Amino acid sequence: MKAVRIHDHGGIDTLRYEEAEQLKLTSPTEAIVQLKAAALNHIDIWVRRGLTGIEIPLPHILGADGAGIVVEVGKEVRNVKNGDAVCLLPLSGCGRCEFCITDRDFMCVHLRVLGERMKGTYAEYVALPSQNCFPIPPQLSFEEAAAFPLVFLTVWRMLITNAELKPGEHVLILGIGGGVATASLQVAKQIGAHVFVTSSSDEKLEMAKNWGADHGINYRRSDFAKEVRALTGKRGVDVVVDCVGGDSWVKSLAALAKGGRLVTCGATAGANPQTDIQRIFWNHLKVFGSTMGSREEFRQLLSFMGISRIRPIIDQLFPLKEAAGAQRRLEEGKQFGKIVLQIAD
Ligand SMILES: [Zn+2]
Repeated sequence: MKAVRIHDHGGIDTLRYEEAEQLKLTSPTEAIVQLKAAALNHIDIWVRRGLTGIEIPLPHILGADGAGIVVEVGKEVRNVKNGDAVCLLPLSGCGRCEFCITDRDFMCVHLRVLGERMKGTYAEYVALPSQNCFPIPPQLSFEEAAAFPLVFLTVWRMLITNAELKPGEHVLILGIGGGVATASLQVAKQIGAHVFVTSSSDEKLEMAKNWGADHGINYRRSDFAKEVRALTGKRGVDVVVDCVGGDSWVKSLAALAKGGRLVTCGATAGANPQTDIQRIFWNHLKVFGSTMGSREEFRQLLSFMGISRIRPIIDQLFPLKEAAGAQRRLEEGKQFGKIVLQIAD
């Protein structure tokens, strides 16, 4: 099969579009999916650069998100059959620890993610536990079905499970444009929240408004915490989505109303920022960290996608063999929404 693989960790030039060995089922509970599309995530870049702290056998196929058609199933598989169109839950635990047996695989010390400890989706085929294959929400194309699982699952856990976002609340989303930020915007608007977004790009702020954002703040021109306070009559927002960290962290705390919730799943601008403990206790703030989510949260999300008719925002499509160009766009932060690889038959 054709795949995009790395033989070494490093820069974009380590990505090779080449022939890889055909996949075989390694367990009676696995399925093989012929992929039609794969979506990019920052984890692909961390794995490519070798920054995850996880030793992986090389050569390795990147890619955590994908969608396609089931072409082979193990003897014990009952939930899918050949010919089913499926999207993929990207993570899987050991199945035995205290977290896995209570549907919290995302906390498993043996957690495996597609494209990280498992061979990924930048390929014509992927093998994975059949229980990670789910029917595609009816309105979505293969490209859209590949674009939503990782980021929307992460956002669902952050906004719905952890922050318990309610209709009518005010949300601030930092760094609009990335997959998590644009998914947060879509979910928050669908829930009926009032949404502020920040960016250094006026063009991205304008695009966010076209997707329903109520206010855009260019953080290069003004202090977003002060602006949010001014726009909310000094009250502040109920929820901040800050996957940026760095210099933004203290401002995110300052933008929150009393009892506000800050959710985070990343620190692209720095993981060891200055903080403000006094503000956290004095204002009764809650800080939630999370990565991805549970099967039950994925089930809730699929149901929500079906009923809300949300379609994930696609930034740009690339053919599989141009994965390097696609990753370059992600690394340069030029995207608004998800970058997707199309995989031809
Ligand atoms: Zn486990």
